[in-house]
Amino acid sequence: MSNRIVYTQPSITELEHEYVLDAVKNGWGAKCYDYINRFEQQFANYLGVKHALATSSCTGAMQLGLAAAGIGAGDEVILADTNWIATVAPVVHLGANPVFVDILPDSWCLDPLKVEQAITQRTKAIIATHLYGNLCEMTALRSLAAKYQLLLIEDAAEALGSEYHGQKAGSIGAFGTFSFHGTKTMTTGEGGMFVTNDSNLYERVLTLSNHGRSRHQTKQFWPDEIGYKFKMSNIQAALGCAQLERIDELVGAKRKVFSRYKMLLSNYTELMLNPEPNGRLNSYWMPTVVFSKKSGIKQEQLISAFQKENIDARVFFWPLSSLPMFTTKPENQQAYDIAQRAINLPSYPQLTESEQQRIVQVISALLC
Ligand SMILES: *Cc1c(COP(=O)(O)O)cnc(C)c1O
Repeated sequence: MSNRIVYTQPSITELEHEYVLDAVKNGWGAKCYDYINRFEQQFANYLGVKHALATSSCTGAMQLGLAAAGIGAGDEVILADTNWIATVAPVVHLGANPVFVDILPDSWCLDPLKVEQAITQRTKAIIATHLYGNLCEMTALRSLAAKYQLLLIEDAAEALGSEYHGQKAGSIGAFGTFSFHGTKTMTTGEGGMFVTNDSNLYERVLTLSNHGRSRHQTKQFWPDEIGYKFKMSNIQAALGCAQLERIDELVGAKRKVFSRYKMLLSNYTELMLNPEPNGRLNSYWMPTVVFSKKSGIKQEQLISAFQKENIDARVFFWPLSSLPMFTTKPENQQAYDIAQRAINLPSYPQLTESEQQRIVQVISALLC
């Protein structure tokens, strides 16, 4: 049997080895925050934002941001039904109520019309998740946020390197969050980042992230409130510094893998791939194929066809409202329907053209 193709894996070079080893050997005592500070600064520069705070995960970054913004019991937070659980878990932990809204059929991200219909007196925020590298309709969402005085938040975990009319994903809303889990475009093993241009919000997050200890508090070991401990280690940040130096290469590799899929699949009309409309740059975290209804192709069929060929393909996110802890919302028709006939294809810098041909062959066999 031919070798297994995993769905993703990071690209680790000598540079990563060198930085991590340096952090392990020397990054203690007076130097124990050096890589963290450098990583945060470089990340803020890359994104074009004022502030960045490294966290233990994207989930932690989201919880800090929501808590700092004062989201709590009784508040409603609107987000796409098609989402990873990490986006909604912090909303629930803070006692707020998630409101799941349907997605657009082409970008698989929040439908702004449905967002507006879901706004109530209790709505406090909209979380725009940029799915699989695709971008949300930020202009429409931004005007809704302004009109109803809501916080517009970006979950950019899957869109590092994507750009919306020249602005980097994650840098547009009141705050943005990123993930450096091993499956993401760049990794620190586990890890995340909170970013914002709002200095007051940043101060609040900084205090909350440090067990409620303000940096202006002169007394040592004096928390003024109960906060959180969602920090990144200096060793992880060293890995992050190396990956960030290579970010253009990493995003470029993702785009190259996608463009090969696009070329290899160009003759098939019964499917669509991640879009890249004018004015947007897609960093294509997960190349995704959505088969037409007419093709009759179903998710179970896709998974088993790929399994047979020793290829890890990933299911499209289940609608969050279909999970046992939430109330089913079948009126989110796109979210329920698209998940049934879509799949994520493997993508990582080392993926070869012949491996991609092997992957595409599974699709061709299903379509003929
Ligand atoms: C990966 C991911 C997260 C969670 O990231 P962690 O670092 O694992 O907490 C959050 N949101 C989305 C959309 C993701 O894809």
